[in-house]
Amino acid sequence: MITINEALEITKENIPAPTVLEYSIEDATMKYLAEDICAPEPSPRFTNSAMDGYAVRWEDVCGASPESPILLKVVGESQAGFPFPGKIEKGGAIRISTGAMLAAGCDTVIRVEATQEQNNIVTILSAKHQGQDIRHQGEEFKVGSLLLKKRTKISAPQAALLASVGITKVKACKPCGVAILVTGSELVSNGDSIEDHQIRDSNMIMLKTAIKEAGGDIISCHQVSDEKQATIDAIKQTEADIFLCTGGVSVGRHDHVKDAAEVNGFKPLFWRIRQKPGKPLYFARKEKSLLFGLPGNPVSAFMCFTHYVRPIITSLIGLPLGWPTVSGEAAKDITNMGKRPHMIRVQLTWRSNGGYWITNSEKQGSHMLTSLSDADGYIILGPGQVLKAGKRIDVYSYDFQRKPV
Ligand code: AMP
Ligand code: MG
Repeated sequence: MITINEALEITKENIPAPTVLEYSIEDATMKYLAEDICAPEPSPRFTNSAMDGYAVRWEDVCGASPESPILLKVVGESQAGFPFPGKIEKGGAIRISTGAMLAAGCDTVIRVEATQEQNNIVTILSAKHQGQDIRHQGEEFKVGSLLLKKRTKISAPQAALLASVGITKVKACKPCGVAILVTGSELVSNGDSIEDHQIRDSNMIMLKTAIKEAGGDIISCHQVSDEKQATIDAIKQTEADIFLCTGGVSVGRHDHVKDAAEVNGFKPLFWRIRQKPGKPLYFARKEKSLLFGLPGNPVSAFMCFTHYVRPIITSLIGLPLGWPTVSGEAAKDITNMGKRPHMIRVQLTWRSNGGYWITNSEKQGSHMLTSLSDADGYIILGPGQVLKAGKRIDVYSYDFQRKPV
């Protein structure tokens, strides 16, 4: 048996480099940038009006007020999409809409609310300062400005920003392809009828969701009974960056995942870690493909996924290797009475004076899914270790929305 840190070292040494591809921005959404993006155009692209109103020359309207209004001749219009082609002369005004290009010669916009128009003559009732209500070319950013940093996730606002400057393609990390293989003769798929001695499969949907959340691509999902040949065949027929098997990885007579992986050419890198839950975790590699034999117990499977597999999936999409953590203080003593390091599932609650209190879920059995569904993350305590009330510790968070570094 190896330690948690030894297991992490081994997984780290075997992570392949991320694959960078060029994607259309449509396909790049929800992925992470593999390059810095600089502006090919300024924003705004051209000087335009911030308001519906009249584009004028400041020297013509300076001093206008309800008591001494100024009258100008309306000589044309600049509409969004249809700019005024000419140049404004002394005493002229141009009707202008929000976002429309400022006509040559104009330096100020008077909002509709401060005007009255009749027979192509506009009365200016107020003018506060030169340049009012104009958005200048490049005032947000200039050509060459850094818009998005490498490792930024392309969510809705980032996709919009790329589209707004005419970028159609970006380099992003290819999500790794993950194959799921759930093993167990006792398992019944969600929705199917069940006998008294059978178990409902909860690992499949759990892993699918966790992989999607981590940014992986699910390329196949299979369920097999505890039969060696069926397990061998299921691994053989799939090509994946990562194989995630659950169940059948212990010392039982019907546990075939390790053998099936090795028959298929995977070389074992470790089996069994001094930890609770998740002791039987198995890790193997064949060229660039990695295979994890997660324990069958849903809690053990999820803890192994979160601590060992998720960092690999997230690093392959371009995030730094590691876990998101949140610091908190124990609300009361938390003790590991066991002989192995314990990944104790905990809740985080806001403290009135800031920060978080940490409390542990009472029922921590590796078959008890409520210990996960009620938890925000987990802490790791060594054998016999007591985390005293008020002591600070980092919680490994299940939620891993992270900023790029
Ligand atoms: P195993 O690792 O195959 O010995 O399974 C350990 C325990 O986890 C057994 O009680 C199994 O019934 C249970 N188990 C295995 N696979 C699943 C699954 N996909 N969903 C829910 N429970 C499972
Ligand atoms: Mg089994």
